[in-house]
Amino acid sequence: MRRKLVIAGGGIGGLAAAVALDRAGEDVAVHERAPAFCDVGAGMSLWPNATRILRNWGLLEQVLALGEPVTHFDLLCPDGSTISEIPMGSADSPAVCLHRADLHRVLRQALSPEKLVANHGLASFSQAANGRVTATFTDGSEVEADGLIGADGVGSAVLSQLNTGASPVYRGYTIWRGIARDVRVGIRGHISETWGSGRRFGIMPLGKDLVCWYATHNGPAARPDGPSGRKREIQDLFKGWHDPVSRLIEATDPETILKNDARDRAPLRRWTHGNVTLLGDAAHPITPNVGQGACMAIEDAACMAKCLKADGHLGRALLAYERARLPRTRYVGRQSNRIGAIGQFENPFLVRARNVIARALLLFSHDMALNSVYSYQI
Ligand SMILES: Cc1cc2nc3c(=O)[nH]c(=O)nc-3n(C[C@H](O)[C@H](O)[C@H](O)COP(=O)(O)OP(=O)(O)OC[C@H]3O[C@@H](n4cnc5c(N)ncnc54)[C@H](O)[C@@H]3O)c2cc1C
Repeated sequence: MRRKLVIAGGGIGGLAAAVALDRAGEDVAVHERAPAFCDVGAGMSLWPNATRILRNWGLLEQVLALGEPVTHFDLLCPDGSTISEIPMGSADSPAVCLHRADLHRVLRQALSPEKLVANHGLASFSQAANGRVTATFTDGSEVEADGLIGADGVGSAVLSQLNTGASPVYRGYTIWRGIARDVRVGIRGHISETWGSGRRFGIMPLGKDLVCWYATHNGPAARPDGPSGRKREIQDLFKGWHDPVSRLIEATDPETILKNDARDRAPLRRWTHGNVTLLGDAAHPITPNVGQGACMAIEDAACMAKCLKADGHLGRALLAYERARLPRTRYVGRQSNRIGAIGQFENPFLVRARNVIARALLLFSHDMALNSVYSYQI
């Protein structure tokens, strides 16, 4: 019998879960707090560990048609010289950069519209002794179901009720993201990150004449915009950096520049209680240094579907999902923090040593560390 599962949150994670579970024969509905299902955000990278899953779901062709394939990752110095050029082509599935809104739309369109309930934020839930769940929404309505999946992001209402005592950790730097239009950048298929002192600048062509850029800088959490405005502040921080850094910032509408603190959370020891579980950022937010947050949510979704197919007992299957995902997401989160901490070095001696060592070691260590990320099979 099809089990009825409520998914709270319609971001990349909630939609991916709905696609995977729907295809596994479960009866799912996604309840999203926002008035409509859409995703703004900026650009993102999807790596082979996620594109392999999208291919299994029959969605990869659409995603590739909307984005720009990635063949190389270039690590650069602020003067434009190369620290390392890492080929990405050896995996069995491609890497691609695209606008988040495009991925969101592809996932949405893979679901029938009645499975998507907008303007329906989860307020709380209760669980009966037999595991059945009652989800209560902010408008006072209730939905009874066999299980509840909290895919409601880093501030998860489901997590807060599970009472894990989890609190976010600020990693010491601000991240800005923007999208520039009609700016010519380097070689096709190459994305880059430039490492300076306490700051980095990344460039990801998204196709369709769009280029996503991101910039980081060490500083306090929740720092306010400078008096000259967000765009001017970033221009000043990256003044004199290689082309096309300044042109990209210049070609970006200041109103659309996003700003986030680099945050994650100490890993949870568990996130499943009976027939209630978490997925994506609600379970394991990670810093964006390896571009894997959404990829992890897609892996979560595929893993959950596999566990539910393998075991007809819902609570046991969700525990098996949690057990499979805990070490994996912890590992990727650790890698991301390590790369972020090294990339944000500020001390001139450490910066020089980092670049020399990175030149010698990065190809090797990148292959070792990131191939273990990319080659993961559910
Ligand atoms: C600067 C930056 C760059 C990034 N770059 C990449 C990248 O290149 N590649 C990559 O893979 N990842 C990247 N990520 C990470 C990625 O964006 C997230 O990990 C991913 O989007 C998490 O998806 P999610 O669905 O779990 O959470 P979210 O995207 O946060 O979605 C949660 C959804 O739940 C809804 N919601 C919240 N509360 C409720 C409620 N009570 N009831 C119902 N709905 C609710 C929200 O409105 C939202 O729609 C980046 C993140 C940042 C900050």
